[in-house]
Amino acid sequence: MRLRLDKFLANKAFGSRKEVYHLIKQGLVMVDGVVASKKDMSIQIPEQTITVNGELVDSRQTYYVKLNKPAGYVCAVEDARHPTVMELLPPDFLTMGVVPVGRLDKDTEGLLLLSNDGVWAHKIINGKKHIPKTYYIEYAGELSEEGIGRITEGILLGDGTQCKPASLEIVEPGKAHIVIEEGKYHQVKRMIGAAGGEVTYLKRLTVGPITLKGLENLGDFADISAEDMEKL
Ligand code: URA
Repeated sequence: MRLRLDKFLANKAFGSRKEVYHLIKQGLVMVDGVVASKKDMSIQIPEQTITVNGELVDSRQTYYVKLNKPAGYVCAVEDARHPTVMELLPPDFLTMGVVPVGRLDKDTEGLLLLSNDGVWAHKIINGKKHIPKTYYIEYAGELSEEGIGRITEGILLGDGTQCKPASLEIVEPGKAHIVIEEGKYHQVKRMIGAAGGEVTYLKRLTVGPITLKGLENLGDFADISAEDMEKL
């Protein structure tokens, strides 16, 4: 496959096209052992060898996928008891090393990202840039003003885990949107629980700029657009 050098490296999570341009300008990028001088240089992948700072860039095709996860599927590559989200995708994805990026609970629906780019996945899950994630919640019980205030300011969970401030908007009694920038275990359910409610339905709507647009039905999946990849 023929590609532009800067586009290839940007897709490999070496930064924006501008950041990649700086790497090339500094002479840190080599193509088949020769310093690359042009950002728009055409390269043949996987035949040519690309290094950045002396490190080989994996030229396997990378996949960046978004899925509208239905309830009942676990976010794992294999599971002895439950169907996995991989069963919703073509088998080639598993062969290409595509795995879920982060997790949603088995009973949670909505936006799940998947990729075979480990560097990118690590940035999404553990990166310095905290990515906001929006969830739609249905809950039983009452969320008091005081409980909502504690969620907004950073709620302390029953086991002593301190959550960062989150934004919570009650849409109507029993229905809300919450935005969090972390991904602790069962976080939304535990936050709502600590504020006096009980989550009865949970759906993730967004991860940073990525939405469920184009994934109207549960089980739908698509490539993440280049535009969203740049914005992340
Ligand atoms: N918070 C939860 O409690 N569950 C999820 O699946 C995601 C966030």
